[in-house]
Amino acid sequence: MMNLREEYDNYFLDIYGQVDFIPVAGSGSRLFGAHGEQIIDFSGGIAVNALGHAHPELIAALTEQAYKLWHVGNTMVNQPAVLLGRLLIENSCFDKAFFCNSGSESVEAALKLARRYALKNYGQDKHTILAFKKSFHGRSLFSVSVGGQAKYSEDFAPLPPGIKHGIFNDLTELEILIDANTAAVIVEPMQAEGGCLPADKEFLVKLRELCDRHAAMLIFDEVQTGIGRTGKLFAYEHYGVTPDAIAIAKALGGGFPIGAILVKDKFSAGFTQGTHGSTFGGNPLACAVAYKAVNLILAPGHLSGVLTRAQLFKQLLEKLNDELEVFSEIRMLGLLIGAELKPQYLGLARKIMHQGYKEGVALLMASDNVVRIAPAHIIPEADIYQGMAGLYKTLLHIKSCV
Ligand SMILES: *Cc1c(COP(=O)(O)O)cnc(C)c1O
Repeated sequence: MMNLREEYDNYFLDIYGQVDFIPVAGSGSRLFGAHGEQIIDFSGGIAVNALGHAHPELIAALTEQAYKLWHVGNTMVNQPAVLLGRLLIENSCFDKAFFCNSGSESVEAALKLARRYALKNYGQDKHTILAFKKSFHGRSLFSVSVGGQAKYSEDFAPLPPGIKHGIFNDLTELEILIDANTAAVIVEPMQAEGGCLPADKEFLVKLRELCDRHAAMLIFDEVQTGIGRTGKLFAYEHYGVTPDAIAIAKALGGGFPIGAILVKDKFSAGFTQGTHGSTFGGNPLACAVAYKAVNLILAPGHLSGVLTRAQLFKQLLEKLNDELEVFSEIRMLGLLIGAELKPQYLGLARKIMHQGYKEGVALLMASDNVVRIAPAHIIPEADIYQGMAGLYKTLLHIKSCV
């Protein structure tokens, strides 16, 4: 067989720097390589495969829909989209939905809605967007400019204007940063790519208060934290702070591409007919799979199972760290887990990720200094132990190199 990894380099833009392991199939929390290798998947397709690989009920939902209707334009309403929209609205504090295909598009939609709402109700000066340093909101030009990591956006200048960046979890400057000209504030309840940093409750409470005071739309980017990842359907539920809109994607389709925004009635007039759209948004195949995925995540025992597994991860990571002393802090919100490397291992998260695949565990990074774990919500206990054994070997190897 040809060497796929080398062939890839011949034909693709060099963006990702992939690992050598090439999966050909998956089942639950296991990935299988072409040469009989098996690895434990602690990456969950980057927080996407909430229900693991090849979940039989998702396969059934996909195949059943595949025989009926794949795609219709948004000139027509389709049943899977309506069922999914109703399910999300009935299980959240929001009133209206819009479907798209990715996290970036959902962030883009939320920001455009906020800008247009502010324009129509308050005039063109009210257009500023406040985001936070180290945040990640996607890769479209607007979403990457709103994101708080200059390394991702600066080379694509000129960037869209009217965007400010505050310091995450810092309350001191918020009263200056949010004013009458603020159209929207966007924040991740836990900064995921930025290093798995949970927001403080007081910070989100203050954002809510200032957005109310200045009629600004508070958007939570729940692309990574939403759909059960943290042990609640949405992470805002942990905080008792209600945003005006959320952007979701990643786990929503259980591996099938789909994104969405959910919005409060108050702001829903930000979009009117013809002001926004998406060819594939609300695609029947995507919505049929997502409808099944969200139903499975809402089924009794699922979300509590996330918290039980999170506890086991915490316990095992702490034990591992007692012995190896590689992490300065282990942070988690449900099964979104970040282990920050001690100063002597700074910058080694990528190396750890690559080595993990050699030791039988698929890991993620979040910034250069944090090892991130975001497994399937339903990862079996035995696979947690086996993956942790792989992580242990990985870290021993890294220690021997430093
Ligand atoms: C992954 C992610 C995005 C971007 O999603 P894409 O589907 O890659 O466009 C946006 N925001 C957050 C918080 C994410 O984790």
